[in-house]
Amino acid sequence: MGKRFTSLALSLALLSISALFYYSFAQLRNPCQCVAFRLDDVEDHYLDKVNMQIMKVFQEKNASLSLGIVGNLFGHDEKLISFIRNRINDTNAQLTISNHGWNHEDFRRFSKEDQSLLIKRTNEKLNDILGVTPSVFIAPFDVFNKDTIIALKENGIKYFSSIIDNDTGPYAIHEDAIPYDFPSTATTSDDNGTYWIGVKHENTSTQIEKSISKYGFAVVEMHPYEYSTKHDYSYKPFNITNPKDTFSYEEFIKNWEKARIDWKQIRELQLLIDEVRDKGYTIVPIENLAS
Ligand SMILES: [Zn+2]
Repeated sequence: MGKRFTSLALSLALLSISALFYYSFAQLRNPCQCVAFRLDDVEDHYLDKVNMQIMKVFQEKNASLSLGIVGNLFGHDEKLISFIRNRINDTNAQLTISNHGWNHEDFRRFSKEDQSLLIKRTNEKLNDILGVTPSVFIAPFDVFNKDTIIALKENGIKYFSSIIDNDTGPYAIHEDAIPYDFPSTATTSDDNGTYWIGVKHENTSTQIEKSISKYGFAVVEMHPYEYSTKHDYSYKPFNITNPKDTFSYEEFIKNWEKARIDWKQIRELQLLIDEVRDKGYTIVPIENLAS
């Protein structure tokens, strides 16, 4: 009896050790099953109502959101600033602040030293205004080069996000690869080359599912214009594949004041957040994808 009991206890112990081992292995392969939502191009007097409505959706759903703020184009819009400040203090639905360039410039066109300076200036400005120092850099236009990575290290930036098509990795957590690289792997719009058209939530949800099974994480890239009545406005007088092509970001963002909230797309966003959770994924800010 005693012997049988011992062997039973031993088998149980072995079983739980192997279950633990299997679990840890699965965890390692698929670290978090987490999704981060990234709202790019946040700046003064630019689709404010739309941006605030997007932030409200995340707040109402108790879901985290990472904002990509353009340093030099931010700091005078009191309404937007106080809205963001209040939200930063909300611990339930985390709102985190990312560095999205100084003038939303194409970083490939600058020397390593200048790239470093642009990153530094934006971090300092955002700290002055919001009291937080970003640890995430979202590459403007989703483009970068090797010098960008060095410049990020120089500034102590821990996380980096562009788009999977422009980024060969290594992604996620690699011991010697700081900044950790979490490119966007899903979008809430169909970038058909000329327009940003908001898509149905099922479309984005499928992209998220594929990303999680392939990389163990998903980053959803969003822009305010996808949620505005001007989402069918041409945005690309700029050829991203040609580093010499000229493009004025400030020209591009003019004349958006009259754009209103596209409530249909806001509804799609609410449905997307629900669906992501129904699938068992956790919504975290980019900074927490690594944990
Ligand atoms: Zn941008």
